[in-house]
Amino acid sequence: MAVKTARKIGPVVLLGPPGAGKGTQAKRIVEHYGIPQISTGDLLRDHVRRGTPLGLEAKSIMARGELVPDELMYGIVADRLHEPDCRNGYVLDGFPRTAAQAGWLDAFLEQEIFENSEKCPPVVIQLLVDYTQLLQRLTGRRSCPTCGRLYNVHSQPPRFDELCDLDGSKLVIRNDDRQEVISERLSAYENMTKPVAEYYRAKGRLVPANADRTPEEITAELFGVIDGHAAVHAASEMAKPE
Ligand code: AMP
Repeated sequence: MAVKTARKIGPVVLLGPPGAGKGTQAKRIVEHYGIPQISTGDLLRDHVRRGTPLGLEAKSIMARGELVPDELMYGIVADRLHEPDCRNGYVLDGFPRTAAQAGWLDAFLEQEIFENSEKCPPVVIQLLVDYTQLLQRLTGRRSCPTCGRLYNVHSQPPRFDELCDLDGSKLVIRNDDRQEVISERLSAYENMTKPVAEYYRAKGRLVPANADRTPEEITAELFGVIDGHAAVHAASEMAKPE
């Protein structure tokens, strides 16, 4: 994608549980600022596809749903962040996933002076959602067993109670969307990312954002936070002695 702005945004880290709208917001940030989204899951899957030594090592770990060891992650992340399209910033997706990775990222950004650019610490935004509402939204999902069309009884209900608009089949709840499965996914997420959120909170760098609002309202807040971070950082860089 063409870079729309020469403005330096720096790294953006979005934290938030599944269903908080992270994907939607990341996409809007990418489009608005003309910066890439860097998914460590995609980078790893690419290594697996190409059968590189790292890919061979990561394949079975990923298949078990476990985390790839930190030491294996650093090389691929560093390589990707050295690419020229990352010069003005990037949205990190799936990284950092441990406190050690967050510490590594800080050290990396501190040491690395990219060609033509100054250092910039990540802006870390935590999307906060009311778990009861989130659970209600996620468990509202229904699908048609005949044609596969998706509905949500809260936000996108069928015209007639629990029946598919297209073929009249009785809608079903997919296994993945059952309350027990979703609660399990949410608590797994919570346990996994808590240390990352704690790392940034302890440094006073975790910016909370209320995600129980319309996507447009959330986007407006995120752009404000990112613009503010970039402006403060640019000012402090200018104030530094030569
Ligand atoms: P994702 O596409 O983000 O869900 O990632 C898919 C899989 O890749 C995860 O289940 C992990 O096995 C691995 N993975 C992705 N990012 C990381 C990371 N930052 N640290 C360790 N493992 C990761």
